[in-house]
Amino acid sequence: MTYIEPAPIKDKENPLESMMQRFDAAVKILGISDEMYYILKVPARQVTVGLPVTMDNGQIKVFEGYRVIHSTILGPSKGGIRFDPAVNIDEVRALAAWMTWKCAVVDIPYGGAKGGIACNPREMSAGEMERLMRAYTIAMLDIFGPDKDIPAPDMGTGPREMAWLMDEYSKAKGMTVNAVVTGKPLVLGGSLGRTEATGRGVMVSALAGMEKLRLNPYRATAAVQGFGNVGSWGAKLLQEKGVTICGLSDISGAYYNPRGIDVEKAIAYRNANNGTLEGFKDAELITNEELLALNVDVLVPAAKEDVITHENAGNIQAKLIVEGANGPTSASADDIINQKGIMVVPDILANAGGVTVSYFEWVQNRIGYKWALDRINRRSDRMMKDAFDNVFETSQKHGVSLRLAAYIVAIDKVASTYKFRGGYG
Ligand code: GLU
Repeated sequence: MTYIEPAPIKDKENPLESMMQRFDAAVKILGISDEMYYILKVPARQVTVGLPVTMDNGQIKVFEGYRVIHSTILGPSKGGIRFDPAVNIDEVRALAAWMTWKCAVVDIPYGGAKGGIACNPREMSAGEMERLMRAYTIAMLDIFGPDKDIPAPDMGTGPREMAWLMDEYSKAKGMTVNAVVTGKPLVLGGSLGRTEATGRGVMVSALAGMEKLRLNPYRATAAVQGFGNVGSWGAKLLQEKGVTICGLSDISGAYYNPRGIDVEKAIAYRNANNGTLEGFKDAELITNEELLALNVDVLVPAAKEDVITHENAGNIQAKLIVEGANGPTSASADDIINQKGIMVVPDILANAGGVTVSYFEWVQNRIGYKWALDRINRRSDRMMKDAFDNVFETSQKHGVSLRLAAYIVAIDKVASTYKFRGGYG
């Protein structure tokens, strides 16, 4: 029997620290009371479970799984499930809080949560993944629920894992409950447009930022870090809007072509090549650090947290950063970026397209009806643009960055909702 040791909590760039620093700065501007500070700060519920799973070789491995419900003030909690070797409770706590702020920024009636399992999906068979997901679902049976806590995909999980979760939950309840999870395959009540939703929201917020900076998309260049669901869809949709994508990257390295990379071609290559860009020929191989420092107009970090830090922020040449990932910029880099005058569309705004279409999926499941793709795209684009405009206005009003403004909008909304609901006392 083996025990999968959860990754050590990094002390250098801890995402929870980064989230809290921005939270504290926004709270100060809003002048929030001490009581409210702790109501908003302390997660409502944190669950850690041990998950024994029989591996293909017959041995049992015990994985550690988490679900953190940060807040249920705006409604049932919502947030993805991450499968990654680096998952730890601090990361999940930061990601759960970001979901609370994200849902508040785009004005959808959800609180925030996040789940995760410390595991390496790249080294696991489909059968092992399925047993792990089903074990996690059973362990979280009392946590999840269509009116309580609604999971979704995140790094390392997708429609396949959501199908297992929905099936296991439904079996345990003795009825089909498709609204318990979003990001499902279409046949199980998934929504049209959900797969590309986060990338689409990245595109909408990038265009909104470019408009403010008077950057013409047809003359603009971009680099995208990370070529998973968010990065590849973000790059493809930006290219469709006329932007030249000069750089792409994934775990195999970074790829640069100043004349532009055909994103469709890169996606086809990745799909036929075990999910990576390794050996991609139409571009020069560069390092990830070089990609972040490319002389492009727009930089889209769409991989994971803490890739832009105080150590490399000074090298960034882009005029606009659009955060496709959650927490790609650590708080230690904020001052450097602000001093350089770079506009940042922050994660809790830029990547909110995913949870927005998750909300539409949940609504469709609950009314038992399917919306057409154009309705979904039209509504999510409108919500993303409205959220951008609201954050932009708030940043002008307070003379702060878009990031701080997004936190101000979100915290103000959750705090005033709490006041209406009333607490104990
Ligand atoms: N995991 C995604 C995020 O970080 C989607 C969450 C959801 O759809 O509930 O926003």
